[in-house]
Amino acid sequence: MKIICIGRNYADHAKEMKSQLSSEPIFFLKPDTSYLKPGNPFFIPSFSDNIHYECEIVVKICKVGKNISEKFAPKYYKEIGLGIDFTARDLQEKCKEKGTPWEIAKSFEHSSPISKVFIDKNSIDLNNLSFSLKLNDKIVQRGNSKDMIFNIDHIISYVSKFMTLKTGDLIYTGTPAGVGKVNIGDNLTGYIGEKEMFEVRVK
Ligand code: MG
Repeated sequence: MKIICIGRNYADHAKEMKSQLSSEPIFFLKPDTSYLKPGNPFFIPSFSDNIHYECEIVVKICKVGKNISEKFAPKYYKEIGLGIDFTARDLQEKCKEKGTPWEIAKSFEHSSPISKVFIDKNSIDLNNLSFSLKLNDKIVQRGNSKDMIFNIDHIISYVSKFMTLKTGDLIYTGTPAGVGKVNIGDNLTGYIGEKEMFEVRVK
């Protein structure tokens, strides 16, 4: 299983990061060891002083495919989940300065919590799906899939030009504005609409 993450897919987040928007999706990979089993706590790694949460809608691929056209992309996923793309912002800033790949800031152990629950895509409106993240008692991120710069079908089509998508692969579709630092003792709860999707304790 591979984890594919889309960067800069919401204009408000690109703006808060002072990043330029791109005419095609920007994506990077995380290894399967970045997966955090639902219910397990997340341990802040020793190499960073600034781990940020990024709450994202996640698409689970249900069928092998490559060079998938946008028209046929809906055949390649049935379910939608919610996850966090944890990011070592301090290391990422250094990578950006040097122009080097940013795996050390993104691909570390358990940096990809995911909901246990996945929702049938036919039971929701994929073009108007609201989601949010609560840090302790406060909502810190609110997003809606309608604000994605590149929609799910476009992302699948684009990524599958470069690599085969396999059953079980996960695509994190980018985060809206409001990213911020986590501290030991924090509790993160993610929602799609009103439905609680995950809870991650930070240790
Ligand atoms: Mg992200």
